[in-house]
Amino acid sequence: MRNLSQCKTCLQPKDWCYCAGIRPFDCGIEFVILLHPLERRRRIASGRMAHLMLKKSHLIGGHTYTHDKTVNLLLSNPKYFPMVMCLGNDAKNLSAMTKVQKKNLVPEGKTPLIFVIDGTWSTASKTVRLSENLKLLPRICFTPINPSRFRVRTQPKENCLSTLEAIHQTIELFGDTYGFDLKSRKHDHMLEVFDAFVAQQAEYVKKLKASSTGLKHRKKKAA
Ligand SMILES: [Zn+2]
Repeated sequence: MRNLSQCKTCLQPKDWCYCAGIRPFDCGIEFVILLHPLERRRRIASGRMAHLMLKKSHLIGGHTYTHDKTVNLLLSNPKYFPMVMCLGNDAKNLSAMTKVQKKNLVPEGKTPLIFVIDGTWSTASKTVRLSENLKLLPRICFTPINPSRFRVRTQPKENCLSTLEAIHQTIELFGDTYGFDLKSRKHDHMLEVFDAFVAQQAEYVKKLKASSTGLKHRKKKAA
């Protein structure tokens, strides 16, 4: 029998709760994960999963952020250099930059604060367009190395990654510029938890399909 009561932290049904397997780490960059209300209802909310794994990260929900107090407080904090993960002509592609170029992206002594919109690139563009305070921030993007590992939720394009995978890749490309020891591969733990969760979901969907086919078959027989 499935335990459908919800875990208060990961918001998954208790028997899918992945909290026990999480080992939070500091990646040298601060991420602000902006959660669209539509994404919040998804079966795998990978933005929340990423937030739980990143020691210094923020999870904020909403459609637009022009008047969001937490976002504006972060933006006005002089210790940060804020950027947004979003496509656009002026977006700097981390995958195509040298280490020096990446270092020069953020003024000396500032901590990169990267806003990531939980959803597709097009959700990101829309949210940024509608948020006056995010619109003018420097944009960064990257070229995905691998197709998404997301098997449960179909991604609109093959090179479209989940929020967690996008953050993992950003750490891969940018983390060592800000003191994160890439060789520790601590960030790969994000993918391990994600993969295990996706596999569990895929198994559940398979069983569900098998039992509904069986049911149809039995009904046909009975008819
Ligand atoms: Zn949980």
